[in-house]
Amino acid sequence: MTRKRFDEDMKIDRDYILSLIENAKETTEEDIDRILEKAKDRKGLEHSEIASLLEIKNEDQVKKLFKIAGEVKKDVYGNRVVLFAPLYISDYCVNNCVYCGYKCKNKFVRRRLTMDEIRQEVEILEEMGHKRLALEAGEDPVNCPIDYVLEAIDTIYDTYNNNGKIRRINVNIAATTIENYKKLKDAQIGTYILFQESYDEVAYRNMHPNCIKGNYDYHTTAFDRAMEAGIDDVGAGVLFGLADPKFEVLGLMMHNEHLEKKFGVGFHTISVPRLRPAEGVTLETFPHLLDDDMFKKIVAIIRLAVPYTGMILSTREEAEVRQELLEYGISQVSAGSCTGVGGYEEAANGRNIDQFEKADERTPIEVIEDLIDRGYVPSYCTACYRTGRTGEKFMNIAKSEEIHYMCKPNALTTLMEYAVDYGDERFLEKAENFVREQASTIDREDIREFILGNIEKLKKGERDLFI
Ligand code: SAM
Repeated sequence: MTRKRFDEDMKIDRDYILSLIENAKETTEEDIDRILEKAKDRKGLEHSEIASLLEIKNEDQVKKLFKIAGEVKKDVYGNRVVLFAPLYISDYCVNNCVYCGYKCKNKFVRRRLTMDEIRQEVEILEEMGHKRLALEAGEDPVNCPIDYVLEAIDTIYDTYNNNGKIRRINVNIAATTIENYKKLKDAQIGTYILFQESYDEVAYRNMHPNCIKGNYDYHTTAFDRAMEAGIDDVGAGVLFGLADPKFEVLGLMMHNEHLEKKFGVGFHTISVPRLRPAEGVTLETFPHLLDDDMFKKIVAIIRLAVPYTGMILSTREEAEVRQELLEYGISQVSAGSCTGVGGYEEAANGRNIDQFEKADERTPIEVIEDLIDRGYVPSYCTACYRTGRTGEKFMNIAKSEEIHYMCKPNALTTLMEYAVDYGDERFLEKAENFVREQASTIDREDIREFILGNIEKLKKGERDLFI
């Protein structure tokens, strides 16, 4: 079969994806074994191979899939897990996305945070130890224009609380113009995140009736505009539950290839949100809900197909699912999240309208301690983006051994910094022992010394140390 992809203008070939899915039904267990062997090389997979893996059913082969994905993940990411939290600044929305609690059909008192309220939210997030935020907003050009978003970003970066400081803001706002993406770039955002929701144009149109977001072509070309504007870290995702998950995985991979071909670098991250109940949204009405077994396979298959792309999991998932997926796919998780505007301040009192329900309610310190107990290094590192290691430059480092000598010491340093600033005596001792033990496993003396030196410097009050 001829391999068709997105053309230069980023148009998905729906029939091609449907034919890949259809042909993959003939996949044999021998085919799967061969593809899994190939995946060990970390060179990615062909469309037809991804489609075949999505047919995997034999329990032993599923175990093998998880094992190989786990090995690939370990080789590329070591045992680091990056932490972040979302910050919702506005729930005004002109769209009518069938799946979303913010749809304009839902009548509730909408709000956007004032700059003072943003400061207050950020101080609470800093008090939890967060250094990385994902800024979230509904789409409303009048009530939430780009200038408001830019002011919010400035405010967040300018808000300090004791030793707290947000060092990286990833931005998840609706598809926009090159001009606006340039403004976001100038505001020094980290990753521009936009979920395609569904790559299946028919499902996409059904899920976004009579609204701006319903323009499938404008949405699928958003990253082209962002990259043309100079944003070289973009974060993709689909909302699993809206259409055939096999279609979505193949769509994601083709979108990634399109960007690689056109701009030299694909997605920085892929998020894998699954549909959750929300205000005015009941899951029974969605025919493509993704069960845990298929979800886990999908995470492992994406890991094998794009070994160097970070994968993000939010608190939409329960703690147990998050813990398992860290083993063979996920490299970033949110923690202590609120998914409503003003949610951090309101968490203790009153009701706020969440965009969707969460499944993991643990605080960041609980998540961090759990990660340490499982041998992971929780990381608040933001060094790459602040030293210009972004886009293609970052991917080249990620594909080399060099990454381990940057990311691990930086991750351990941020964990120690967190422990000094936010841990009690017991936690500090536990974290310090862990950091020392992890440092001792690094095979370069200069790197070990860098970490041990940082422990002392942090205790003496120095902050924000990185390579
Ligand atoms: N307004 C921006 C846009 O149009 O892309 C940002 C969207 S929203 C703040 C972030 C994401 O939440 C959406 O892209 C969607 O995938 C996800 N989301 C919406 N409703 C959801 C639900 N019921 N369950 C899980 N995720 C949901």
